[in-house]
Amino acid sequence: MTSFQEFGLADPISRALVEENYLTPTPIQAQTIPLALNGRDIVGIAQTGTGKTAAFALPILHRLLGNRVRPQPKSCRVLVLSPTRELSGQILDSFNAYGRHVRLSSALAIGGVPMGRQVRAIMPGVEVLVATPGRLLDLVQGNALKLNQVEFFVLDEADRMLDMGFINDIRKVVAKLPKLRQTLLFSATMPKDIADLAEQMLRDPARVAVTPVSSTAERITQRVIQVDHAAKPTLLAQLLKQEKIDRALVFTRTKHGADKVVKNLAKAGIAANAIHGNKSQNHRERVLAAFRSGEIRTLVATDIAARGIDVDGISHVVNFDLPNVPETYVHRIGRTARAGAEGVAISLVAGGEEMGYLRDIERLIRVALPREDRRTPGQREAAPAAATPHRPGRPAPRPHAARPHESNSPAKGPRRHRRSGGNNGAPPSHRQEQHRAPHGGGRAEGLQGVAFLHRESRPHRQRNRNQQPS
Ligand code: AMP
Repeated sequence: MTSFQEFGLADPISRALVEENYLTPTPIQAQTIPLALNGRDIVGIAQTGTGKTAAFALPILHRLLGNRVRPQPKSCRVLVLSPTRELSGQILDSFNAYGRHVRLSSALAIGGVPMGRQVRAIMPGVEVLVATPGRLLDLVQGNALKLNQVEFFVLDEADRMLDMGFINDIRKVVAKLPKLRQTLLFSATMPKDIADLAEQMLRDPARVAVTPVSSTAERITQRVIQVDHAAKPTLLAQLLKQEKIDRALVFTRTKHGADKVVKNLAKAGIAANAIHGNKSQNHRERVLAAFRSGEIRTLVATDIAARGIDVDGISHVVNFDLPNVPETYVHRIGRTARAGAEGVAISLVAGGEEMGYLRDIERLIRVALPREDRRTPGQREAAPAAATPHRPGRPAPRPHAARPHESNSPAKGPRRHRRSGGNNGAPPSHRQEQHRAPHGGGRAEGLQGVAFLHRESRPHRQRNRNQQPS
């Protein structure tokens, strides 16, 4: 498929695509759109940056227009579930951009903002509703929304939903949907739990997949600096001053840690902002917009808050703290080197616990990362690092860079997953900030969130009549 014309999309949609300057369908679009136009359920393996949003939004819009009926009050015809507020907002923007000539009615149901406006937006019924699972269930339980009119259901970033502990919420949502519907599921990876879920909720799905053009590891210069714990803030400030940085994303493990880093950077004369679950949605949107526009060069984030961040031109990712789940490292560094660019990922590693995390990461990515030792001599003795004994039963990382084809492969051998608490019955706000290891042997393939589309901008923002001002 070399042009969008060949799909035979409704004229108002085609016009919007011309205006968006979409000339050629991406591989995931070329595979998905014809099948979805025929009403097939689809399981798609694709990362962000592959054009997967349009791959599901365009055929759904086309089919919606083919039978333009007024949505019933407190109902939606299209339901898209996504793991984060930011991603949900971006998906809604995409629907509104592609549907700009058809006066699409749409709404967003995300946590972190008051529910009243969302309740009012849904009240007359909307054609498209994009939601995070927790808030969606709150709306359903509060009788503000019925799911029995859903004709099209999309589950986006299913593997991240699983990582974030949303699997039970998703099952609850699916149980409320009509049996007769079209379902599209997208995921960057296909751990067993997601494959099982797909098996249960899709009807004879067509399978589509795209592989990244190159792995993240090939285009990202990764470095580890061993440092005394107390020296991390000073070192970070030094790095941010020394390195040639366009945009830097600094990761911390906790919300409190993110705020502390911002304060310390301010003392060193470096302007930075934090985003995490304690910040209001308005704050997050403002900060993200400033980061996108280049007004802010340094953003400090927790993993969960960073999940929906979709910004090109991040030249540096700095792991102020190493993540305790090795897959998270791959997600983090995949924020740089997008759209074919080069990137730098620097990890500050202090103490024995973080050395353990580093070993897990190296095992997963099958690369021994170059290390620079800036610890004070006393600390070196206290925490011997590089030469730690190899644990039996676990393959040692190879002391050279992975070959390209290998960097896509899962690490062989058993992997230990650290968990830090479940979410049983936790309210949505708690669900947002927990860190969970992937379930059931989630494998590492396809974790390299590599974008191959130029992402100078998202589809143009288009406010619709139901959207709230931000
Ligand atoms: P996604 O993977 O859906 O997050 O899309 C990545 C980026 O690519 C977004 O900024 C889209 O607007 C853009 N995009 C999607 N499809 C196309 C296309 N066929 N041509 C050009 N840009 C596209």
